Amino acid sequence: MNSEKIVALTFDDGPNLTTTPEVLDILEKYNIPASFFVCGNNIDDGTAEVMRRAVSIGCEIQNHSRTHSDMTKMSAEEIAEEINFTSDAVEKAVGKRPGFFRPPYIAVNETMFDTVGMTFIQGVGAEDYIDEVSAEERFRRIIAQTKDGIVILLHDAEGNFRTVKAIDMIIPKLKEEGYRFVTISGLFKEKNIVPVKGILYTSVFQTERYYH
Ligand SMILES: [Zn+2]
Repeated sequence: MNSEKIVALTFDDGPNLTTTPEVLDILEKYNIPASFFVCGNNIDDGTAEVMRRAVSIGCEIQNHSRTHSDMTKMSAEEIAEEINFTSDAVEKAVGKRPGFFRPPYIAVNETMFDTVGMTFIQGVGAEDYIDEVSAEERFRRIIAQTKDGIVILLHDAEGNFRTVKAIDMIIPKLKEEGYRFVTISGLFKEKNIVPVKGILYTSVFQTERYYH
């Protein structure tokens, strides 16, 4: 029985050569890991190096599709191509194949659950893809929603400096509140929870399925 509060910090829409390294600088400053859900089309020799740096400081690289399209409008074959392209590119870059998937726009359907053999992850967010949402507001929203076992969903898209500023406030605040940061796979392992197909996880303790 582990009563320690844990939380997984996750970032979507990278990797890139600007904001992703800035996020890594903050993670290093506080010596914590995070998980990056990447788009296959963003992976090249330069960003592969950024992903290797992330893995070297304890982070995980997971799958956020190839083209960031609404996959509910795709055939099973098209879905599989999106997933496999990105998983192949991640494995080639960092030597480990993703086991977790974040659907673009959190749009899901039964075909996706049937086709993608990975654990589906959502999370609590702060609309941090909207410029008008300030760093302070992002901080406030994330703190208000954080509980033991939760996934925090932010974006390391190019130019998202407000989220870089926000995590420099979020991380020390949650540490002060007694949270420890773990990777997305660590969240399930440390709570001894085996992921179930059909669930779109925002909390590791979630049991409602998208379909049965
Ligand atoms: Zn996204």
